[in-house]
Amino acid sequence: MKPIRFERHRNFVQRPWDERLQEGEQRETAHAITDQGAVHSEHATILTSCSCGHVAPVAGFCAECSLAGADGSACASCVASCARCRKLLCPRHSIRATAPGQTPCFLCGSCAAGARRGRLTRSVLRILLSPFVEFKPDARR
Ligand SMILES: [Zn+2]
Ligand SMILES: [Zn+2]
Ligand SMILES: [Zn+2]
Repeated sequence: MKPIRFERHRNFVQRPWDERLQEGEQRETAHAITDQGAVHSEHATILTSCSCGHVAPVAGFCAECSLAGADGSACASCVASCARCRKLLCPRHSIRATAPGQTPCFLCGSCAAGARRGRLTRSVLRILLSPFVEFKPDARR
């Protein structure tokens, strides 16, 4: 077959931090003339997967991954934003902060650590203020 025409459509997503272009879906079409003189066309679609592993278009980039120099692309069903600082997170860097049955809410690593510290302080205070804790005066006085 004699190739006569080749077409390639490429889609790119620009990353917000470094403006690097990340290649998305590609479509290719090759046209050729067969030995019988007919036009023969072949179409191919190359799908891409996000860092989350899903074969889906990129819906956002994880801010924590970008700090580590990783790509951090996440699909629409995986991308989450921190409930406190609003930065976008991939499944690896989002920490679920709600009890099962409640609307899912996610925190980034540093906000989750902050929340844990806050809880710890509150629970320490609760113990100190509980009526079961006795503050005994020094017996020697
Ligand atoms: Zn990430
Ligand atoms: Zn995903
Ligand atoms: Zn956060």
